[in-house]
Amino acid sequence: MTRQNNAGGQDVKEGYDSVVSIEIHVQLNTASKLFCRCEAAYGEEPNSRVCPVCLGLPGSLPVLNEKAVEMAVRTALALDCTIHERSAFDRKNYFYPDLPKSYQIMQHYLPIATGGRLEIETRDGQMVVKIERVHIEEDAGKTVYLDETGETLIDFNRCGVGLLEIVTRPWVTKPAEVHAYLNAVKRLFQYIEVSDCDMEKGNLRCDTNISVMPHGSTKWGTRTEVKNLNSFRAVRRALEYERNRQIRVIESGARVVLETMLWDDARGETLPQRSKEEAHDYRYFPEPDLPPLTVSPELIDRTRSEMPELPAARRQRFMEQYHLPTSDADVLTAEKALADFFEETLKHHDKPKTVSNWVMGEVLREMNERSQTADSLGLKPQHLAELVKLVESGTITGTTAKKVLSAVLDTGKTPSLIVEEEALAQSFDEGQLRTWVQQAIAENPRAVQDYKNGKKTAAQFIVGQAMKKSRGQANPRIVLGLVEQLLSSL
Ligand SMILES: [Zn+2]
Repeated sequence: MTRQNNAGGQDVKEGYDSVVSIEIHVQLNTASKLFCRCEAAYGEEPNSRVCPVCLGLPGSLPVLNEKAVEMAVRTALALDCTIHERSAFDRKNYFYPDLPKSYQIMQHYLPIATGGRLEIETRDGQMVVKIERVHIEEDAGKTVYLDETGETLIDFNRCGVGLLEIVTRPWVTKPAEVHAYLNAVKRLFQYIEVSDCDMEKGNLRCDTNISVMPHGSTKWGTRTEVKNLNSFRAVRRALEYERNRQIRVIESGARVVLETMLWDDARGETLPQRSKEEAHDYRYFPEPDLPPLTVSPELIDRTRSEMPELPAARRQRFMEQYHLPTSDADVLTAEKALADFFEETLKHHDKPKTVSNWVMGEVLREMNERSQTADSLGLKPQHLAELVKLVESGTITGTTAKKVLSAVLDTGKTPSLIVEEEALAQSFDEGQLRTWVQQAIAENPRAVQDYKNGKKTAAQFIVGQAMKKSRGQANPRIVLGLVEQLLSSL
């Protein structure tokens, strides 16, 4: 049985379950790299943040960044993992131009933490994703291919920057759940301030493994690994594509081969990278230049006591403390910066539901339109509070307030100043309001006729026209009264 699927128009076969595991690589936002003092910075002049250690020059020795260890411990606690007092680093050997040492230092045999869990919200309710392991590793450099000239350039600025890898256990799942998991991880990392998870900067990268099996079976199929996933959308599309491809292979009587696939986002398909026969033998062995990593119980206790509030707890608190509906709490806590902005605004104006409506409505709209985040939008909490107060006191109408918000963002001026400079205060002046209403009635004889014929909603149209004449500044309640009064006297 098949049905059309709206993602890419591929057939989605029913009767099969997918088993998926996800590896997420997150770039730590430490000031310096993992094993040297070079600045871990994005977008700088290529090869300007390098030293003998991260260039792998002979005789240089790595020194572990303690901040990176603290961040790994914080992450492990947030994911409810068991933290190992003793872990170690290994060498993963492979040759690639952007890896000058010809090996990557990472934790292969003894990761810093194992066995965690993360609760996620899906359309079908809450579910738990089990975490297999969390380990520390260093990043490679960046290879840039120039199509025009056929040249290959290498930037080593990223080489040696600290990463955390979070690996889930395989679970029977759907693409939507995977999407929810990825979002939950991203949110968590932002909350615990370990990474900003900016995918455009490559701060969060994923690989996945997927296999399919007949629905209800307990014997997993042969998996393939899918790499080169640069957005959550790509993960979703790649999993859907690979699932269908594997089912087609099985239904044709052939066998799925254990191999690594690369996702081609432009073509919307996976292509084999290398089969198992050609797979790398990474010849892992313990890193001789670093002592075993010891995480003291004191560090774990201190990190636990300093742990910031996590997304799920904050969402719950928003519902209880501010009496907000679940939908509000979901939206407001989806991003830490937005939740912070909301709570800061409340310090200036303690009306949670009103402020929530503004944040979820106009503030989010402005963020989307301007392609900004809550952080980068540049709206001050006290300015939003002031704007809400101007509406509540009747100084300006809701319509005007939207314009004022835009102007605040454009100019950085306070709402009060903009209202004063642009003379936007709401008009209660009956003489002026009456003129606007009379004009609206005179210009719309048809609506007037409709009203006389018993179509009472025509009055709303006249109100709208009068409001327009006032540029949104007329008090709508008074206008409505005037419209009804004048219409019925005709
Ligand atoms: Zn360096």
